[in-house]
Amino acid sequence: MPAVRARKRFGQHFLHDAGVIRRIVAAAAPQPGQAVLEIGPGRGAITRGLIEAGASLTVVEIDRDLAATLATEFGQHLNLITGDVLDLDLAALPQPIRVVGNLPYNISTPVLFHLFAQIDRIDTMLFMLQKEVADRLAAPHGNKTYGRLTVTAQLRCDVRSLFNVPPGAFAPPPAVVSSVVSLAPRADRPAQPIFDALDTVLVRAFGKRRKTLGNALADCLDGSDFETLGINPRLRPENLTPDDFLRCAIRFLEKEGCT
Ligand code: SAM
Repeated sequence: MPAVRARKRFGQHFLHDAGVIRRIVAAAAPQPGQAVLEIGPGRGAITRGLIEAGASLTVVEIDRDLAATLATEFGQHLNLITGDVLDLDLAALPQPIRVVGNLPYNISTPVLFHLFAQIDRIDTMLFMLQKEVADRLAAPHGNKTYGRLTVTAQLRCDVRSLFNVPPGAFAPPPAVVSSVVSLAPRADRPAQPIFDALDTVLVRAFGKRRKTLGNALADCLDGSDFETLGINPRLRPENLTPDDFLRCAIRFLEKEGCT
């Protein structure tokens, strides 16, 4: 594919290390005919391997110049959507769909939340992310990177960090180390209304990180709620497990909302 100048505003860092590309395609493990969505195909580094594996491939690319080149090169082998992944409704695509991508780092967290909200349509996810975001996804409670993203991810998915990728594997090289992470939806994940309540609780809890849990959630849960839940309100939010937050959200739903 001809070299188009990398656009910083679209977080463009193109993979050129053939070994890394092979490992990503192998980890994505698309089966012939399987529905796969690639986010940000760019110059097609991963796309080519997905097509060769026989995936039934949809790609979403925001950069019109790259999309035009992809259409010329791979047009008949994929369903090309020129647009913003944050506007993409998975209901319009075959399901369940495997989602793959070397994500634009500037919007990787919003992309993850956008996909978590549509988790019932997803088979598995495999992403290249900044290592710092990958670490947040997989963080144990008590860790300083543990937060809203961690709890949201871990209650929906089994999160596995697979391998790190150095800046030199990309052109232009990013300033940070990257990691490839797989996210497999959990069969025992709670239903969507619980997640809506959970998100309200998480925004409040981690928005006021240095407060105790009892203070941060004072509008949602009172002392007797914490007693019923068996959770100490003097703990800091980062000391609760994902399951503790889930129980807080269910209690909050039972009470029909925060004040
Ligand atoms: N997959 C290619 C690779 O591995 O070489 C490119 C990865 S590059 C890190 C991120 C890609 O996502 C770029 O092609 C960029 O144009 C695209 N992109 C950025 N923001 C996007 C958005 N909101 N929706 C869809 N694609 C986006």
